[in-house]
Amino acid sequence: MKIKNLSKVLEGQPKYRYAQINKFLFQDYISDWDEASSLPKKLREELSAACPLEIKAEVFANESRQKTQRALVYLEDGESVETVLIRQKVDKNKDADYEPGEADKRGYRNTVCVSSQIGCPLGCTFCATGQLGFLRNLSSAEIVEQVVFWQRLLKAENSQEKVDNIVFMGMGEPFLNYPEFIKAVKFINNPETLNIGARRMSVSTAGLTEGIKKLAGEKLQINLAISLHAANDSLRQKLMPIAKKYALADIFKTVDDYIKKTGRRVMFEYLMIKGINDSSQDAENLARLMRKPLYLLNLIPYNDTGRFQTSSRETINDFKNILEKAGVSVTVRLSFGSDIAAACGQLHKNNSAAKSRR
Ligand code: SAH
Ligand code: SF4
Repeated sequence: MKIKNLSKVLEGQPKYRYAQINKFLFQDYISDWDEASSLPKKLREELSAACPLEIKAEVFANESRQKTQRALVYLEDGESVETVLIRQKVDKNKDADYEPGEADKRGYRNTVCVSSQIGCPLGCTFCATGQLGFLRNLSSAEIVEQVVFWQRLLKAENSQEKVDNIVFMGMGEPFLNYPEFIKAVKFINNPETLNIGARRMSVSTAGLTEGIKKLAGEKLQINLAISLHAANDSLRQKLMPIAKKYALADIFKTVDDYIKKTGRRVMFEYLMIKGINDSSQDAENLARLMRKPLYLLNLIPYNDTGRFQTSSRETINDFKNILEKAGVSVTVRLSFGSDIAAACGQLHKNNSAAKSRR
C-alpha cells in the first residue's frame, strides 16, 4: 500500500475528500480504488496509478488450537516484516486486558500483534528477533499497514469481523522507534480512521525508562507491559544485555511514577525458561518485587527457539502457586506470550524460502 502520494493527487480537490478516503481505506478496508464508488472516475484512476492499495504478503498456516495465523508483509524496499493474528475466546474473568465490546457478542476476539522494527538491536539471548540483528525502524505507515492487512483478510471472510485488540509485541523494541510507534497508535486510535480504542492496545518494552516516561505523558489509555524475565539484575543482564543500562530498581521507580501519573495497571511479563529462572527461590524473589497494587504478572511459557527449553507445566504451576500465595496477581497466558510474541521473529528466521523470494 503506497499512500504517501495521496496529498499530491488530492491537490485541488475539495477538503472532504480526505474524510471520504480515510473511511474507504481504514473503515471499509477497500483494496482497490474501484471500490471507492462515490469518488469521481477520473480521481479513482489517478489514485490507482499513484497510490496502489495492494499489500504484498504471505500468510502461513493456521496453527494450534488458539487459531494463530502469521504473515510476512513485504515492504516497498523489499524487506519483510512479521505480524500475527490470533483469534481467542473472550474470558471476562481471566483476561487481564478484558474490555467490554463487540468481541463479547462474537464470543472471541481478534488480536493483531505488530512489529515496530525489522529485527531488534537489543539482542536478548532467548529471542529469535534479537538474534536476527537490526535492520531498520518501521514507519508509522508500515506499522498501520500490518493492521490493515489483517482487517482486510477478516473482512473478506465475514463482514462482521473486526480487529479488536492490538499488541506491539512483534519484532523490535517499540520505544527505540518511539515517534513512529506513537504516531501509529494515534492513527489507529483516530475515530476517523481505524477507531480502535487505546485501551485495546498494549505495548511491551524491554524496560527502556525514557520510553515509559514519555508514554506516561501521552494521556493515552494504552496498556503498558514490561519484559522482566528475571528477578535480579545479574540474571537479567545475562538474558537481556540491555539490562546493564536499565537496572531493575530504575525500572520499578519509573513504573511507579507511571502508575502514579496515569492510575493504570502495568503488566510484567516473565518468560518461564527451564533451569534458568524457574526455581522456587526465583518465585519468592519475584513475589517480593511484584507485591504492589496495579502490578500484574504474566507468566509466559518460553517458546523454544533453540537455545533454551520451556519450563514444564508442573514447574509453571508450582511457580504460580508461590506467587499467588504471596498475594501477587498472576496469570499464565499463552496468548500474550508464546502464541503471539514468540511467533514473531521466528518466521523471519526460519523461512529462508520467503527470504529468497525477496
Ligand atoms: N521488544 C519488546 C517487544 C517485543 S518482544 C520487548 O522485549 O518487550 C514481546 C515479548 O515476547 C517480550 O516479552 C519478549 O520477551 C517475548 N519473547 C521473546 N522471545 C520469546 C520466546 N522465544 N518465547 C516467548 N516469549 C518471547
Ligand atoms: Fe528485542 Fe524484545 Fe526480542 Fe529483546 S525480546 S531482542 S527487546 S524484540
